[in-house]
Amino acid sequence: MKSKPVIVIGAGLSGLCCARLLLQHNIDVLVLDAQDDVGGRVRTDHVDGFLLDRGFQVLQTAYPEANAQLDYDSLRLHSFDPGALIRTQGRMVEMSDPWRKPSKLLSTAFNGIGTFRDRLKLAKLRWYVTHASADALWREPESTTHEYLRRTCGLSNDIINRFFRPWFSGVFLEKDLSTSSGFFRFLFRIFAMGDASLPEQGMSAIPRQLAAELTPDMLRLSTPVDSLVDRHHVRLRNGESIDCRAIVLAVEGREASRLTSGTIHSPEFRATTCFYFAAPQAPFGEPLLVLNGDNEGPVNNLCVVSNVAKSYAPAGQALISASVVGKELMDSSDLSNTVRQQLRQWFGSQVDAWSLLRRYDIPIALPAQPAGFRDSLSGQSRLGDGLYYCGDYCETASIQGAMVSGRKAAESVIADLASQR
Ligand SMILES: Cc1cc2nc3c(=O)[nH]c(=O)nc-3n(C[C@H](O)[C@H](O)[C@H](O)COP(=O)(O)OP(=O)(O)OC[C@H]3O[C@@H](n4cnc5c(N)ncnc54)[C@H](O)[C@@H]3O)c2cc1C
Repeated sequence: MKSKPVIVIGAGLSGLCCARLLLQHNIDVLVLDAQDDVGGRVRTDHVDGFLLDRGFQVLQTAYPEANAQLDYDSLRLHSFDPGALIRTQGRMVEMSDPWRKPSKLLSTAFNGIGTFRDRLKLAKLRWYVTHASADALWREPESTTHEYLRRTCGLSNDIINRFFRPWFSGVFLEKDLSTSSGFFRFLFRIFAMGDASLPEQGMSAIPRQLAAELTPDMLRLSTPVDSLVDRHHVRLRNGESIDCRAIVLAVEGREASRLTSGTIHSPEFRATTCFYFAAPQAPFGEPLLVLNGDNEGPVNNLCVVSNVAKSYAPAGQALISASVVGKELMDSSDLSNTVRQQLRQWFGSQVDAWSLLRRYDIPIALPAQPAGFRDSLSGQSRLGDGLYYCGDYCETASIQGAMVSGRKAAESVIADLASQR
């Protein structure tokens, strides 16, 4: 007879990593999710032959946890070129990574962004983050990313505002660069050491791979959990109650807070809006991210997704994604028009032939992780006897953080169940 399962609430990356590890230790699991498919914030829609990730996102191949847990070969990853095109003062200039693209050394050195001293400081920063241990990068004194770049690294306002600000606004989903400098250093290392990439079949290939070992009786979708009756009973919104050995909350921080009546403290969330356009042809040919170096107009970053992975668009068409950062802009009534106007300024009248495929408003995209955020993390996955929790808000706001926290929660469950034998 099967034993009562460990219930994992949430089939995002953290919940799936947790469930998979439990299963690998012969612990019965039941994963419940409110949505109609696995993935949580990592989903891909199929629209008219295009693959639309729900919000522009990429997998960094150098994430240690993703590297350990995912089979990159079967994801068939397609990579961006390192660096970015920067739209500034009416033109596009390239800011490459000359260590990885030596042929771009001169064009990057003389692209007019920042000073020669900035180049030396950037080289020093790159050397440091790639040679120090990841732990050492986190141990340094905390500040905001902006303070770190300006005061600690001594970079000029010009290179910060035209390069780092749009780049990391797109990563942190906030424009002040008020996010933790430790997280910045960690990510800068990850960018330098690996590729930003897209799975051939869209970002949802990642959760699909993690869920592959779950048999249909271990996964219930479209099944929102209403409440935790106690540590061994979960009540569903449809009124059904399920018995279990233990519960793992793998939901976003806000929902974790609701389900624990505030015992788990929810962080604030960063928001983003992503517009996808179908175009008869790509406005440029490179697999590069475009950054808004002038901070004018709503679009922070853009890419021709099909330049990176052809599979994202049907033959003879191009897929363009344009991302807007923040809740305020999301709520502005004429956002769609101002986005199109801005793109017309960037790429001219060809934009008139672009058709809007879909707009994704994502108010709960990333947990805010300001300077010093790690001090408020418990570092624990246990909330008490039989109750555990995980999610990106418990580690870092990223695929890496979600996967680490899912693994840690599973390790706690495995240790506790073993000690009960
Ligand atoms: C637009 C966007 C861009 C991003 N870009 C990147 C990027 O480029 N690189 C990167 O590393 N990270 C990126 N991220 C972050 C990354 O996607 C997340 O950190 C990660 O997916 C979070 O996983 P999670 O398991 O913690 O949470 P989630 O994915 O939110 O999973 C929580 C799950 O719980 C379910 N749930 C909630 N409440 C209930 C309930 N009551 N009952 C049942 N189920 C419930 C939800 O349906 C959901 O499936 C991005 C995120 C977004 C949204």
